[in-house]
Amino acid sequence: MEEEVKTFKDLQTEVIDRNLCGKCGGCYSFCSAGELHALEMEEDGVPKYSDEEKCLKCGICYLICPQINVLNQDLKDSFGWKPPIGRYQRVSSARTKDPKVRGVCTDGGVVTSLLLYLLDHNLIEGAIVSKKKGPFVREPTIAFTREEIVSAAGSQYSGSSHLEELGGKYSTYSPILPEVKSLEQKYLRNIAVVGTPCQINTIKKMQCLGILPAHLIEYTIGLFCIESFSFDDLARKWLEKRLAIDFDDIIKINIKDDFIVTLNNGKTIHIPLEEVDAVARPSCLACRDFSNEYADISAGGLGSLDGYTTTVIRTDKGANLFRNALQQGYIEEVEYRDADERKNEKTKMVAKIVSFSTRKRIRAEQRLRE
Ligand SMILES: Cc1cc2nc3c(=O)[nH]c(=O)nc-3n(C[C@H](O)[C@H](O)[C@H](O)COP(=O)(O)OP(=O)(O)OC[C@H]3O[C@@H](n4cnc5c(N)ncnc54)[C@H](O)[C@@H]3O)c2cc1C
Repeated sequence: MEEEVKTFKDLQTEVIDRNLCGKCGGCYSFCSAGELHALEMEEDGVPKYSDEEKCLKCGICYLICPQINVLNQDLKDSFGWKPPIGRYQRVSSARTKDPKVRGVCTDGGVVTSLLLYLLDHNLIEGAIVSKKKGPFVREPTIAFTREEIVSAAGSQYSGSSHLEELGGKYSTYSPILPEVKSLEQKYLRNIAVVGTPCQINTIKKMQCLGILPAHLIEYTIGLFCIESFSFDDLARKWLEKRLAIDFDDIIKINIKDDFIVTLNNGKTIHIPLEEVDAVARPSCLACRDFSNEYADISAGGLGSLDGYTTTVIRTDKGANLFRNALQQGYIEEVEYRDADERKNEKTKMVAKIVSFSTRKRIRAEQRLRE
């Protein structure tokens, strides 16, 4: 008997109704009945049927949703996934050598410098990055020039825009998947994408299934991610009370061992991650991937000194990119006293990534049992 294809109807019950939708826009953007307008997005970013009759019941939306795991084994097999943090060739703590990037980046500026290397050497036509639009608001965009790539770096917020101008939306999540959809119409090829684990997961599933235009993506640079935040009224008030500050005083947030808030008076405050789970996006609490296990290269601050990026080099493509960027002076690795120190520091770095990955998996299992 033929197996019944799961459709958006199943996404509705298995994901949306359980408050697990991450509002990534993947199902809506890559819907086979897109031109027939079978789906639409509600104002808050949650997808819904606009006309169920028009659904072609192809099942693509279901298969590529980051909260649906049916393709996970195929993905693991095709990527050569290994426990506990996915396949990788080596880890490195590195930073940019470009003073301009150093001045604006989140951690060590490795992500931005790798993109600059790719652009300078005509290995990509552009990169999907997320440019700052205001405090806690990022907008996905395709960067075609060095200036555009550099201006999308970092997690520093200008503080010049106010909540009302931004439609009341403060979020650390940036929906890049609709930007992927636009690649074909723009006749672009060889694109790099910077994304969170859920976003890279969807892109890799699309590549696995041969769904266009995922084939145009040549490099995936994945960010570590314990969770993302939507600072609605309640969350903002929680943070203001917890830190005894005004929300507008925040100029930077970062996540490493804990949640790090930098204020405009230069003060830095650390909050344990267990506490900030309370204001994380609900969908993130069901995500199992911390270290972006399917990217060519993954990057985070965890495990490195301030000013450096922890870089997990996974694929051959990622290894070539990292090596060439290193050899051509785009980035430099942290210097260790000797081989013993290098070995110890790298062991500690991997142990931290394993510990955060395990924590995220356990949390997801708990959330999914609810
Ligand atoms: C939501 C979120 C959660 C994170 N959680 C952790 C964590 O728990 N632990 C950890 O160690 N690191 C985490 N990181 C990664 C960390 O903040 C840095 O992005 C990473 O260390 C790379 O630093 P860099 O200086 O090399 O990057 P940069 O050179 O500063 O470049 C950053 C790149 O990321 C892009 N970007 C920024 N925000 C987003 C976004 N929301 N979605 C997609 N792309 C974006 C920018 O456009 C830029 O291209 C998180 C990042 C994000 C966006």
